Amino acid sequence: MYSEPVPVILVDHPLVHDILLGLRDAGTDPERFRRLAVRISVLLLAEALRDLPTSPATVETPLGPATGRRIAADIVVVPVLRAGLGMLDAVLELCPSARVGHIGLQRDETTAIALQYYEKLPAGLADSYVIVIDPMLATGGSAVAAVARLKEAGARNIRMVCIVAAPEGVSLVERVCPDVRIYTPVVDRGLNSQKYIVPGLGDFGDRLYGTV
Ligand code: URA
Repeated sequence: MYSEPVPVILVDHPLVHDILLGLRDAGTDPERFRRLAVRISVLLLAEALRDLPTSPATVETPLGPATGRRIAADIVVVPVLRAGLGMLDAVLELCPSARVGHIGLQRDETTAIALQYYEKLPAGLADSYVIVIDPMLATGGSAVAAVARLKEAGARNIRMVCIVAAPEGVSLVERVCPDVRIYTPVVDRGLNSQKYIVPGLGDFGDRLYGTV
């Protein structure tokens, strides 16, 4: 049972758990896996953006004026390639005007160390709500590398959204970047000797793209 105090927001919604079980199921094919990844990401993103600022606005309904609120924030989403791309459509569905940065990090299969091979970030991140999407928070190496690059680029308000987290990854993020909140449905048991999350769901990118 995971019980450390960490900057984790556990997104505990019945729909999230139902979808997560489908993602974990080794019998789920890539087509269904992709659809489930988008569905769960919509729910996780909605939670991660719960405190977005809004400003009052008025529209005319067919029956008269109605006041409401519009999002008043610059949202930047940063998928960590390649697995994070499986969550991107969900963010753009919810926030069509979000700007998108990309960070390419590949983990060395023997050392599990994250090596950066690509980066393209939008300018002016200082006042943006920056959401890093990376489905598997395993060792945390990619997460802290991505956060470090975003901070160097000026980001100050960074959150991470993942689909499965490991205690090791959560602890590393907590230690290295305690200002970054992590949104996840679960913190699993831990990592195996190949640094895969157990029970996890396998290699997210491989299952997403059928490259197993
Ligand atoms: N990346 C994955 O895709 N799966 C894991 O279990 C760990 C890292």
